[in-house]
Amino acid sequence: MENGKLFHIILISFSLIIIATPCAHGWGYEGHTAVCRIAQARLSKAAAAVVKKLLPAYANGNLGALCPWADTVKFRYPWSRPLHFINTPDHLCSYSYARDCIDKSGEKGFCLAGAINNYTNELLDYNKKKQQYNLTESLLFASHFMGDIHQPLHVGFTSDKGGNTINVKWFKRTTELHHVWDTDIIKKAQGKGANATDMNGFSQWRNQVKGWVFCTLGCTNSYATESITAACQWAYKGVQSGSTLADTNIVADKYFNTRLPVVELRLAQAGVRLASALNQIFT
Ligand SMILES: [Zn+2]
Repeated sequence: MENGKLFHIILISFSLIIIATPCAHGWGYEGHTAVCRIAQARLSKAAAAVVKKLLPAYANGNLGALCPWADTVKFRYPWSRPLHFINTPDHLCSYSYARDCIDKSGEKGFCLAGAINNYTNELLDYNKKKQQYNLTESLLFASHFMGDIHQPLHVGFTSDKGGNTINVKWFKRTTELHHVWDTDIIKKAQGKGANATDMNGFSQWRNQVKGWVFCTLGCTNSYATESITAACQWAYKGVQSGSTLADTNIVADKYFNTRLPVVELRLAQAGVRLASALNQIFT
């Protein structure tokens, strides 16, 4: 797809979401919807047809509308809570599946990376005569988690729970660093108008999009490593609990301006990679 189109899709999703967002969880409603809209526009004909078939009728074929779903079932499916993130050792800035993809009780593979592997594997059942999984849920979980693994702080440090215990001042509010990355940076970009969501960023990726798809399935080691690297280079950098990340008087705030391109890059990468995974699965 032309990068111009990719950018338009992000813009459209951003502006639609402004109207439709009651509250945010995970990457945030906005981020997850953007990821899946980008993905849906890049689906092959075959994959698009399967996605439409798997989505519930009320979704009207709109994958983006249901990508925040996994955050809404955390109470119904409490077992799914640890699947939204990966904790890595503090300040190591590295990820290892064997070391980090483990839940509190020591269950191996019970983390965000393991969840992506699991649900993309389940989707491969689609072409089998006898299907043993609820593939609608598999699709919604896989699509959601592909977004989460690209949010740098969803592969964060253990002791601060991916920035959830780091309180910061963000413009007029006090919030958590994690929330800044899930939601606040995106909302601020929306608040500054569509043109402020960094068109330059998208044109500079024109030649990179192909390179993002260096593998299609089983790529979680790379995605998680990219995220913890970005968490160290951008999210955590210069931030301690109590930091002021953005000043009410300075619109062009440094933290916002330097981190927004990273957020947009990760949303775009997640969408492009989700599409390539689904295209591969549903060929
Ligand atoms: Zn999530």
